[in-house]
Amino acid sequence: MRVLLLRFGELYLKGNNRNVFESVLISNIKKALVGHDFKFEKTFGRYVISSYAEKEESVLIEKLCKVFGLYSLSPAFEVEAGVDTISSVVGEVDVSGKSFKVFVKRADKTFPISSMDFAKDLGEMLLNSYNDSFVDLYNPQVEIHVDIRMNKKAYVFTQSIKCQGGLPLGVSGKGLLLLSGGIDSPVAGYLVGKRGMEFECLHFHSYPYTSELARDKVLTLAKKMSAYVGKLKVHVVSFTKVQEAIHANCSPEFMITIMRRIMMRVAERLCQQNSLGAIITGESLGQVASQTMQSMTATGVVVKRTPIFRPCIAMDKEEIIKVANEIDTYQTSVLPYEDCCTVFLPKNPVIRPTIERCEREERKLDVDALVEECLNTEEIVEIG
Ligand code: ATP
Ligand code: MG
Repeated sequence: MRVLLLRFGELYLKGNNRNVFESVLISNIKKALVGHDFKFEKTFGRYVISSYAEKEESVLIEKLCKVFGLYSLSPAFEVEAGVDTISSVVGEVDVSGKSFKVFVKRADKTFPISSMDFAKDLGEMLLNSYNDSFVDLYNPQVEIHVDIRMNKKAYVFTQSIKCQGGLPLGVSGKGLLLLSGGIDSPVAGYLVGKRGMEFECLHFHSYPYTSELARDKVLTLAKKMSAYVGKLKVHVVSFTKVQEAIHANCSPEFMITIMRRIMMRVAERLCQQNSLGAIITGESLGQVASQTMQSMTATGVVVKRTPIFRPCIAMDKEEIIKVANEIDTYQTSVLPYEDCCTVFLPKNPVIRPTIERCEREERKLDVDALVEECLNTEEIVEIG
């Protein structure tokens, strides 16, 4: 019987969290495969998916590869563990013209032949049926794995497909991702998701200075992320009034810093309203003026009870782009629509703002009213 053999991380499965993590992982796997018929079985430290339509296999694999907490998977044949049954499945593997190696693992020591001997026998059998094939123990083109398990079943497979790894989504609480239309913030969302954190998104737009297309772009990014993190709630908030007020009242070089301080305040308020435990941004150290240590101090200080997670902080742009390509957000991120941060962009943004100076600038505004006004424009879009 054709099955999919799923492997999950061993490390975190120790200790008290084991049961919680496993049940979350299993429920995420089932959610990812909603709409498909299949059987799910938990056995010997692996999960086995069976009884699915064979033509759906590649779609199932693609979806499973996006489930955080799964480490790898193999399309396999499951048979009753016996010398003949296994030999006949292994005999089906086409090794003509190729080098190969047979690996046998025997969890069930009552199986009548030792792993080494059985591997040799199977190897010989293949050499006899494919006389243009040969054994290469060090660098084989085809690896044939035979896993004989305690449940008296054997699994034969030739391929291990790497999955995401990480922790099951949901075991690390829920945060709020500040999602711009750029390259970094979707990557930040993916990275915390991979550590098990669910999140909602917050996007600031500056309509009419930014277009409807800029907003659609952000929703497309959310849709792309949702392939990994499931349904996503996006809080869309207008930042226009705030920007106009800062522009009219504050020193231009502080425009970005003050904007970001107000963004953070709005984010923390939304966290409180929605029981979200962390703010996540795509900031990366030194990338732009607003991402120096001093700038992040000046913007972070307005957030009182919520940690700010910056998963991209120590990544080079190239590394971030690599991930963005892997999760298929890059091509969308580089579409050329204005972001609210690029509207009213000052020529010389301050690189090392002090908290005191920011506070002085903010005395020229009614910050609380601006935050409130922002929150009042909130619109919620459900994705996925
Ligand atoms: P990104 O590529 O994620 O847009 P960036 O390099 O353009 O980042 P900034 O524009 O300084 O950098 O933004 C830094 C972070 O602030 C973003 O990663 C994002 O988390 C948040 N942010 C910026 N603009 C917005 C916005 N319009 N709405 C929500 N969050 C934003
Ligand atoms: Mg940006």
